Amino acid sequence: MSKYDVVVVGGGAAGLSAALVLTRARRRVAVVDAGEPRNAPAAHVQGFLGSDGLPPSELLAAGHSEVAGYGGDLMSGTVATITQCAQTGAHARLRFDVVLEDGSTLRTRRVLITTGLRDEIPDIPGVRERWGRDLLHCPYCHGYEVRDQPLGVLGGAPEAVAHAHLIREWSSDVVFFTNGATLTVDQREQFVARAIGVVDEPVTRLVVENDQLTGVELQSGHVVPRAAVFVRPHFVPNDDLLVRLGCATHDNGWVAADATGRTSVPGVWAAGNAVNPRAQVITAAGEGSAAGIAINNDLVDEDLPIAVANLRLPV
Ligand SMILES: Cc1cc2nc3c(=O)[nH]c(=O)nc-3n(C[C@H](O)[C@H](O)[C@H](O)COP(=O)(O)OP(=O)(O)OC[C@H]3O[C@@H](n4cnc5c(N)ncnc54)[C@H](O)[C@@H]3O)c2cc1C
Repeated sequence: MSKYDVVVVGGGAAGLSAALVLTRARRRVAVVDAGEPRNAPAAHVQGFLGSDGLPPSELLAAGHSEVAGYGGDLMSGTVATITQCAQTGAHARLRFDVVLEDGSTLRTRRVLITTGLRDEIPDIPGVRERWGRDLLHCPYCHGYEVRDQPLGVLGGAPEAVAHAHLIREWSSDVVFFTNGATLTVDQREQFVARAIGVVDEPVTRLVVENDQLTGVELQSGHVVPRAAVFVRPHFVPNDDLLVRLGCATHDNGWVAADATGRTSVPGVWAAGNAVNPRAQVITAAGEGSAAGIAINNDLVDEDLPIAVANLRLPV
């Protein structure tokens, strides 16, 4: 069985950043990654200082070679279970067995879970196909690229109205498609005040021509021309492993981790979108870095009393 100081589950920005810190701290590190980073459909990573506009795959490839260059083991695969090994003796160290779907097992002193989140988006024809291209969610990721163009916002999610007001900062031509949601009188007045159009007729599909979104088709068959459409997804954390390990959650159901990624379960850490829906690539990388430093300190703290106890053993 392979033995590590830290097994990182998930090799996106958060996981690779943690692995970089930990391998540079001379820890034995494995990163197990299922290979489906959240931003894979997008052509570019925007807003990452120094790497703005880089394709997501290139950013990860650079991270792979940096981590491997310091001796980290990069593994393709999906982690199925993590179990804590029984501790025996006064100064026993924490141990976990990380089991991959192919049956292989990694023993490790600490686990860091950076498994990201899933975006649940409306089930309307064209939405899934255009996701990350011209059916967008994040104006900070894509807004500049579609600035001043005719934009739409699909209603439905509770936060969609606020989202439309945000998108309005990038274009003066924004239409809000209520998509079944009921607007209050105040909300309609606010949309008028900001010159945001409102369409109450149900949306049937996104219209695509020459591999480009050109409009939003309504039930009547009428098409509202749009160059891009924004949606506010429902964010679902990939936190099964954390939950099954017994990590405490916030009232909103998301697993609780402190500013260093420490969860309520000793030895279990988490970072990035798995515990923080707001994390952008640079934030996820920062959280991973902070977790890497904190885990290294935690390992030192665990080793110190054991070293002292060993020193005091009668010869
Ligand atoms: C379409 C789109 C475009 C975006 N564009 C931008 C942008 O331009 N700029 C920006 O800052 N942010 C952008 N984001 C947000 C960005 O994707 C996230 O901030 C970032 O991916 C979070 O990094 P992470 O490491 O937490 O998770 P991820 O990057 O999602 O990485 C998680 C990894 O864990 C793996 N994994 C999951 N479960 C397991 C398991 N059980 N075992 C092993 N591996 C597992 C996944 O396969 C994945 O590779 C975009 C998001 C989307 C949806």
